[in-house]
Amino acid sequence: MQRFPSDGVAAQTVPTYKSYGRHNFDQIPQLDCLTAAERFAIEVVSQILPFKANSYVINELIDWDKVPDDPIFRLTFPQAGMLKPKHFNTIAALIRQGANQRHIQEISDTIRLELNPHPAGQMELNRPLLNDAVLDGMQHKYRETVLFFPSQGQTCHAYCTFCFRWPQFVGMSELKFAMRQAAQLVAYLHQHPEVTDVLITGGDPLIMKSDTLATYLMPLLENDLPHLQTIRIGSKALGFWPYRFLTDPDADALLALLRRTVQAGKHVTLMAHFTHPRELHTPAVRQAIARIRETGVQIRTQSPLLAQINDDSNVWAAMWQEQVALGCIPYYMFVVRNTGAQHHFAVPLERAWNIFRGAYQQVSGVARTVRGPSMSTNPGKIEIQGITQLNGEKLFMLRFLQGRNPDWVLQPFFAKYDPQAIWLDDLSPAFGAEQFFFAAESG
Ligand SMILES: *Cc1c(COP(=O)(O)O)cnc(C)c1O
Ligand code: SF4
Repeated sequence: MQRFPSDGVAAQTVPTYKSYGRHNFDQIPQLDCLTAAERFAIEVVSQILPFKANSYVINELIDWDKVPDDPIFRLTFPQAGMLKPKHFNTIAALIRQGANQRHIQEISDTIRLELNPHPAGQMELNRPLLNDAVLDGMQHKYRETVLFFPSQGQTCHAYCTFCFRWPQFVGMSELKFAMRQAAQLVAYLHQHPEVTDVLITGGDPLIMKSDTLATYLMPLLENDLPHLQTIRIGSKALGFWPYRFLTDPDADALLALLRRTVQAGKHVTLMAHFTHPRELHTPAVRQAIARIRETGVQIRTQSPLLAQINDDSNVWAAMWQEQVALGCIPYYMFVVRNTGAQHHFAVPLERAWNIFRGAYQQVSGVARTVRGPSMSTNPGKIEIQGITQLNGEKLFMLRFLQGRNPDWVLQPFFAKYDPQAIWLDDLSPAFGAEQFFFAAESG
């Protein structure tokens, strides 16, 4: 029996982290339940999209009796439908011919570039400048919040099959955001008093050892940055490896670091990504949430809405209620982004709104802190507020929750109703307007 020094909670075992991917998935005994075609699909799809699962996801989250329909299996294991048939067939043919890995790699790289690897203008539009030099490891899009991508945090405990960060995981170095010096972040913040929030993100920054994370966090505390009120850490560790906060060798050091950050007077919030209520059910995740809450760090939760994984009001209602019961704050429901395997996971905007509404109606006000469904588009985060009729025209009602221009926020606007629309690109302005009100300025 392992005891966590600071709280005396007993764990059954100290699990060892074992990671699986393209090169060793044949060592996962549970995969024997798959058909030959399903196994081959893993081999094909994982040539293009990243694939990583770990012992916790495999042994404690996936219900193998329900595979291949199990939601966590669908969330973490490659499936044929994630690639368009022409891409799938190209790679499948190369594998069947016994093509060498270098050749397969070259073809994969060209296919990846067809999958919109950097949606929402990530590459061109959001790079901040420090004394005329572009800062590669940062994005500054919304006035109050700077995103920071520590270079050692550009991987995850397991990979989500829908992830828009996928280009960072597939070894195309020219696509990698990376920045080595926290000093640059501090210098940038000194020049930008309008910034109240730093969001440390990745990949998953909690992949980093606590010591490394401290080299990024401590300068934020030690420098005089009174306008920096909130430090957010975006992480999937609670969902995919809660032992990060329990039994990892530096788990206690991580919690001590978080406590110290809170005690320095910052609001610290873990932006935790939970896709399905199953991720809230293991003893490990419950203990991890309790330990984080004890440090004074808040946990806010968010996830995209994904076909065949969580496209059900009851799933969301249960997830929000359980999160509130555990002391977490529901924050965002996202529409799946226009990148990678979007076609596989997309839920039409109309259905997304109905699922959101059906879930929201089931929960009390304490869980209605959540907003959505929200599209993270080039001009900003756009919420689908509803479907309505005006002057006989059926419409989507929309508004910005975040805008490249802060003045756009909460201005209602309308798009023509389209039952097939899955993203802003599919929408056109209502009432015969040529373009949306923000179009001229958003480029
Ligand atoms: C979502 C997001 C943020 C944070 O937005 P909040 O609404 O404050 O949570 C900041 N920057 C970018 C680029 C984002 O996409
Ligand atoms: S944990 Fe987050 S960043 Fe990592 S693969 Fe999943 S969605 Fe992407």
